[in-house]
Amino acid sequence: MSDCLFCKIAAGEIPSVKVYEDDICLAFNDIAPQAPTHFLVIPKTHIPSVSGIDAGNSGVAAHIFEVIAKVAAEKGMESYRVVSNIGDQAGQTVPHLHFHVLSGRDMTWPPG
Ligand code: 5GP
Ligand code: ZN
Repeated sequence: MSDCLFCKIAAGEIPSVKVYEDDICLAFNDIAPQAPTHFLVIPKTHIPSVSGIDAGNSGVAAHIFEVIAKVAAEKGMESYRVVSNIGDQAGQTVPHLHFHVLSGRDMTWPPG
């Protein structure tokens, strides 16, 4: 999508600090980290949110979770939180599927 921030980051049109990249997804540091480690994992194809995952693209979502596990293991992260906000009330601000991966501090539950 031409006017999508994360499509532009995936295409390299907007710079990011990359954590991991392959043909299917990109992981990069969040610009406003909420924990000592806070990166986002996005598909390179435009999917608006988790609510846009279906039988035709669920392989992309499964791959992203494989990547999260792999990158976390490589970084030695033993405890971390994976979050995806869907819609305004949940706090989604960028309408391109992304998973926050947060680690390095104590966290509370339930989230705010
Ligand atoms: P959401 O609010 O949709 O769950 O998460 C969007 C995330 O994208 C936020 O944590 C925000 O800090 C991050 N973000 C917004 N714009 C940029 C940007 O230009 N670069 C990077 N690296 N992160 C961004
Ligand atoms: Zn997009």
